[in-house]
Amino acid sequence: MSVTDFQILQEQRALRILSVFFGKENVPHALLFTGIHGVGKRTAALMFAMACNCRRFADGTVQSRVDRDVMTVVGCDCKACRKILSGNHPDIHRVAPSGGMIRIDRVRELRHSLSLKPYEASLRIVIVEQAQTMNPEASNALLKILEEPPDRTIFILTALTPGDLLPTIASRCINVRFDPVPRRRRAAVWRAKYDLTSVEADLFAIMAEGSPGRINMDSPADRKAWLRRRKWLLNRLSEITSGTDRDLAVNGLMAFAERLFREKALIDGSLDMIRSFLRDLIIFKHAPEKILNEDVLSDIRRISIIFTEKSLLSKIEAVNAAQKAVGSNANIRLTLEVMVLQLAKK
Ligand SMILES: [Zn+2]
Repeated sequence: MSVTDFQILQEQRALRILSVFFGKENVPHALLFTGIHGVGKRTAALMFAMACNCRRFADGTVQSRVDRDVMTVVGCDCKACRKILSGNHPDIHRVAPSGGMIRIDRVRELRHSLSLKPYEASLRIVIVEQAQTMNPEASNALLKILEEPPDRTIFILTALTPGDLLPTIASRCINVRFDPVPRRRRAAVWRAKYDLTSVEADLFAIMAEGSPGRINMDSPADRKAWLRRRKWLLNRLSEITSGTDRDLAVNGLMAFAERLFREKALIDGSLDMIRSFLRDLIIFKHAPEKILNEDVLSDIRRISIIFTEKSLLSKIEAVNAAQKAVGSNANIRLTLEVMVLQLAKK
């Protein structure tokens, strides 16, 4: 979470809505943040938690209503904001999926914490990330909490759409919608902040769109690793799918799968990138101006005509299956091998 993440959010209508709630000191007790991956729902939830607990508001340093804008907490160094940002605030509860799912044990833990008095917060905040990953038992347990919410506690759920949740949960929340962040805006902010060339900034913005939330932009090492990884991946994909490498035997394919497997921290993001490339091969057939990976347009043009849409869809399915295996930690190596064979299949 960096200042840049906050800046990218700045133009979201959602933030203005949150500022209105905050300014009127009339915050609904349950909010549902919806929007595609990577639009900043989690960042906004933290920002809101900071605004509700920032010492500068509490001690009257910032008084006027006009200044009661949630953006004023960006860069705040007060004790409460620092604790929230570092994940050490005892009254900010974050519930996130583990192993791809939010289970009932986690919701029970939450219920227990909420039965105790807040430690230091003016408003206790519960952030349920990717609330659609709650299994039915967890959903029902959360619903019970929402039906009789504890005092001075605000729930913020995040999901792709309200339809992903139990209707009984969604109907108890005020929906705050986040619009997709324009790629150009993201690139411009990053270019200035990280001193990138415009080509690099564009590439990171492409990666953020195809593979949201995977790159820690604040880490130069991470940025470098992902630039390198993307270049390698796209080269290999281009070879495998266009068959320019005639010696590309099963051994070569297995080596590709093996390298994907070995670098565990990069698997998920790599699979996102492969999928985004395959999607472009399909999109190119219908609306070439809408492809995401514009920097490899000539490869996409060349490879797109080699495959039917149906065959590309089955490749995407293989990528999805591999990603699922990675999420559940089962047979990762095997599904990666199956996936790579499927990618190469003519
Ligand atoms: Zn503060």
